Amino acid sequence: MADIEIKNMVKLFTVLLLSEKEQYGYEIMKEVEKKTGKKVSPGQIYPFLKQLKKYDYVETKGRAERDKQAYYLTPEGRKFVARLSDKFGDMFAIAIKPKLTMCAHCSCEIYKGGYKERINGRLLSFCCENCAKGYRMLNTQ
Ligand SMILES: [Zn+2]
Repeated sequence: MADIEIKNMVKLFTVLLLSEKEQYGYEIMKEVEKKTGKKVSPGQIYPFLKQLKKYDYVETKGRAERDKQAYYLTPEGRKFVARLSDKFGDMFAIAIKPKLTMCAHCSCEIYKGGYKERINGRLLSFCCENCAKGYRMLNTQ
C-alpha cells in the first residue's frame, strides 16, 4: 500500500496538529482555518482523518459520533510524520513555529497567566481552573 500523499496545506496542518496532541475533528478544522486563514469544511478534514485511520496512523477514542471522537497518532503515525518532516523540511519548521499557548480543554488562546495543572503526568495549560477540572473529568478514570 503506497503511503498517504500530502498534497495541500490542510492535510499538512492536520498531521502537524495531531503530532502535538490528540484532537477532535472540529478542533483541527478551527486550527487549520486559523493557520491557513481560509475557510475549512468538514469534507476537507474527516475523509482525510478516515484515510489516516485506515492506514493505522491514527486511532480514535470517545463516542461513535464523529464530533465526539478524539484522534491521536499511533506509533506508525509518528513515523509517518517523521517521514513528512524529512520531505518537507523548512516548510515543516515554519508551520510549527512558536505560537500562543492554547487551553488544553477548550482550545482558547491563553494570552497571559492562565492556569497550569499536572494531569496524567503532563503539565498542561488551561485558561482557567474550570477547564482544568473539565479536562480532568474527561481524561482520568
Ligand atoms: Zn479553557
